[in-house]
Amino acid sequence: MHTMNKKDINGVRKLIGRILRGIIREQKYKNRRGKKGAVDEMAIYRIVEIGEDVLREKCSEVPKITPNIHKLLDNMAETMYAAKGVGLAAPQVGVSKKVVTVDVGEGLIELINPVIISREGKDTDIEACLSVPGLAGDVTRAKKVVLQALDRDGELIEYEAEGFVARAFQHELDHLSGILFIDVADKVYKNN
Ligand SMILES: [Zn+2]
Repeated sequence: MHTMNKKDINGVRKLIGRILRGIIREQKYKNRRGKKGAVDEMAIYRIVEIGEDVLREKCSEVPKITPNIHKLLDNMAETMYAAKGVGLAAPQVGVSKKVVTVDVGEGLIELINPVIISREGKDTDIEACLSVPGLAGDVTRAKKVVLQALDRDGELIEYEAEGFVARAFQHELDHLSGILFIDVADKVYKNN
């Protein structure tokens, strides 16, 4: 019989934490869906691909969080999960507004008018993008970022992110300025 060492146990704890967070996320997501009722079904948007102008525009601020913004957030999350993406920016669904959804497996994060207020360190890793099919690239980004944004209730929230989440934030915020990862990559290659 296999005896677990401390490292294994920690690994299992982490895994359980991840699964639980996943379940909680799904539940929250279902609750939100449930409240909306049958008349306002969620929709999966078409993902805009490179070559379409909206990906190159500077997005406008959201001046007021309206039911339409809530609908946009809901449908962006739906679209992101359906496409198995870890992040989606509104221009990727054809909407030139500062709205982003991110989920790297630790729960859904919704960002309205996000701004990175500090960056620290450097880290190079592989990235790809739902709007740039068939390509991947090595991109150097800040290792840690502090980001401020409004949540769906209009509350100002601050995220201190590191590693993959920090990378996802930076990738998605670039979309809001019309920048794609291939513009800032150290190296781009085929990813089939
Ligand atoms: Zn992207």
